[in-house]
Amino acid sequence: MSKQINRNHETILTIDLKALKNNLKYFKSNLKPSTKILAMVKAFGYGINHTIISKEIENQVDYLGVAFIYEALELRNAEIKTPILIMNPGKYSLEDLINYELEPSIFNVEQLNQIINNLNKLNKTEFPIHIKLDTGMQRLGFYEDEIVDLIKTLKNTKTIKVKGIFSHLAAADDFTQDDFTQEQLNKFNKISAQIENEIGYNTTKHILNTHGIERFSIEQNDMVRLGLGMYGVSNDNKIENVVTLKTKITQIKTVKFKSSVGYGRSEYVEESTLLGVIPIGYADGISRSLSNGVGHVLLHNQLVPIVGRVSMDMTIINLSKIPHTKIGDTVEIFGKNRTIQSFADELNTIPYEVLTSISHRILRKYI
Ligand SMILES: *Cc1c(COP(=O)(O)O)cnc(C)c1O
Repeated sequence: MSKQINRNHETILTIDLKALKNNLKYFKSNLKPSTKILAMVKAFGYGINHTIISKEIENQVDYLGVAFIYEALELRNAEIKTPILIMNPGKYSLEDLINYELEPSIFNVEQLNQIINNLNKLNKTEFPIHIKLDTGMQRLGFYEDEIVDLIKTLKNTKTIKVKGIFSHLAAADDFTQDDFTQEQLNKFNKISAQIENEIGYNTTKHILNTHGIERFSIEQNDMVRLGLGMYGVSNDNKIENVVTLKTKITQIKTVKFKSSVGYGRSEYVEESTLLGVIPIGYADGISRSLSNGVGHVLLHNQLVPIVGRVSMDMTIINLSKIPHTKIGDTVEIFGKNRTIQSFADELNTIPYEVLTSISHRILRKYI
């Protein structure tokens, strides 16, 4: 018999599910009561665990959103029955998609025909799909000049039903790009109306993500797709922090002046210096590009720099500003007291990448 493994460890990712639900409630309170909410739980639920989040919020949302079919199957395996939109259904598991009633995003004619063929084989009719329009992202979706052909195909089949029409904004967070965003919104309203007009029935139209909801609320249409804001990243001070990454000091030492620190001897201390070691490294998602003072961590309410290179399982930090530090003292990488945004800024990236880069080996604790 194998022994239960105790994964307790100084480094823990804490997820405040109450805060997540409060954030969802807050977004909801700023929308029209009739507007549906799709909660994005792609990429392991932004690094948190899509199954646990979905269980927690399934009764408060109308839809869940994932990138790939297997992510949705994991949710169905956990008995989650909420409608799920698949952004990238691909072609390998269409039978699963159909059998588990997952709703695919359809973004080109080949893909549309593929799903129609599969549905015909299984004798299905009126299967729900969401048409994706490319209004300016230049990624996935139908362009305006492809709509006439699309409508022809749609009108010629009973196999599918257009449950939704949607598009994605490229720069909803950037006020210098608002003219472009408004163009995307106008294009979306125009083309979605044209499709509804031709097919002769109403669909669920949706275009806003978190930044869109926060800045272009008037365009909420029938549904919004909420991700980052629910996970606690926003400039709105009503949004509560959800994710906290903490660790503890496991070694303290004073190194002599002119010593090199860590791998490659990439950094030297200029004077006798107090250093601490924390058991978290690049294998945990603390990028090596934070080495040599680029990155900081929060200790006793002060930001202290990383010294030398981040290694696989450990990082060395400078304690000279906080000489009373003891082994076992808590270090916050990001969370309530040090925003994910500020950590992302040091890494020259965005909170999305920070959250989804937290390695799966880090123990997640849900409160
Ligand atoms: C990830 C994603 C969202 C959610 O975006 P947030 O900025 O996290 O709110 C919405 N729509 C699509 C198509 C996405 O891929």
